[in-house]
Amino acid sequence: MVLDRIYSDLFKNFIFFPMAKIVGYNIRNYYLQFRKTQWLSIEELKEHQEKKINRIIKIASTNVSYYQELFKTKNKPLTLLDFPIISKEIIKKNALDNFINNNFKGKLILKSSSGSTGEPLQYYVDQDWKASKIASWIRNLEWTGYKIGDPYVNVTGFPHGFFKKYPIIFTIEQKFFRLNNISPFELNDQSIIDIVEKIKKARVNLIRGYASSLYEIAKFIKENNIKLNIKSIVTTGETLFNEQRETIKNSFNGKVYDEYGVDAGLIAFQCKFGSYHINCENMYIEIVDDNLKPCKLGQEGQIVVTALSLFGFPLIRYNTEDIGSLSDINCPCGRGLPILKKIQGRISDRIITGNGKIITIHMFTGLFMPINEIDQFRIRQKNPNRFIFDLKIKQTFNNELSTFLREKISILLGDNVEFDINFVENVELHETNAKRKFFIRDF
Ligand SMILES: [Zn+2]
Repeated sequence: MVLDRIYSDLFKNFIFFPMAKIVGYNIRNYYLQFRKTQWLSIEELKEHQEKKINRIIKIASTNVSYYQELFKTKNKPLTLLDFPIISKEIIKKNALDNFINNNFKGKLILKSSSGSTGEPLQYYVDQDWKASKIASWIRNLEWTGYKIGDPYVNVTGFPHGFFKKYPIIFTIEQKFFRLNNISPFELNDQSIIDIVEKIKKARVNLIRGYASSLYEIAKFIKENNIKLNIKSIVTTGETLFNEQRETIKNSFNGKVYDEYGVDAGLIAFQCKFGSYHINCENMYIEIVDDNLKPCKLGQEGQIVVTALSLFGFPLIRYNTEDIGSLSDINCPCGRGLPILKKIQGRISDRIITGNGKIITIHMFTGLFMPINEIDQFRIRQKNPNRFIFDLKIKQTFNNELSTFLREKISILLGDNVEFDINFVENVELHETNAKRKFFIRDF
């Protein structure tokens, strides 16, 4: 323990921060700030945020063509609410240059969103954005008891590091990080056996991966009575369903922390009391209804973000199209960082049937996931009144279970909606990344 702490301090101060600085990321500054600011009161944090919002608004209205054009005839000063809510489609429709800060002297980095829903979005970030994102992420991981440099298993398929372009330095970097990368792209019984062996050997305290990948591994561990003891498990990249959380918690025998990030940055992370604290030094969050009007506190709606440390390509009131609500409770952990109450997944995961019923994907995960005889599932909607349920089942699946499912599904879908249950060998993962999509609209 003591040696780990010494290693972490040395690694952080003499290798990680200096290496990051060499390639242009001043993570240390942000990290030191964020470690302190998390304990400020909500009022102090709001004041802090307001200053940052005003700075971004000023940059956008004076140096970004899209907003200059928009506010040509409008009297200044502007407030955040004067800015329109922008979507992926609006950014795509315009030339990317229209959103660039024309007075920006730093380096812009072209990024592409993972494209798990529709076409990927291209946008720019800058070095401040990246440094502050990594700093807030390290702060978040520390909530789990992790210290940078601790042995860590990464099951996202995307190894982190600053020197990806230089294979030799990158390998050294990964060794110093004590990072064990495992690919989630082809999960099958044999690869899971290998993964579990690797996890055992690595003697790690932290494992991080997509909710669905960790869930698959957790199911295998449970079925095979494997004993593991991983202190902290971080799920990311997808909505974490309650059934998944329980299985992951019990199989890995540790505490599950869920991370919520979008293209625009890392939004929230759970503390040990389960609250999703917003990284509000970097992100300003609003919740809006279907007409894009602000919701009341606690009301569920679409999550809209303004990135507060992205100066080269101001991203203002960007609609994530995820569903959530804000809370004003004080968390027992003592942090003043505001809390996202619920993250309900993407708006595209809302299932609307021809009879006007709105069903959340949670209702189906709640139905299928607790059934041991079902390995994997996916719902495809072929037209408003027709659904196909792809199920990968175990040999123990029987007619009785099939009848039970048919009854439950027809109650959930409601009148005049047809469906088929289709038994498949495997439920295909999404092509461009390993995230599993439980619902696909096919029309
Ligand atoms: Zn908390």
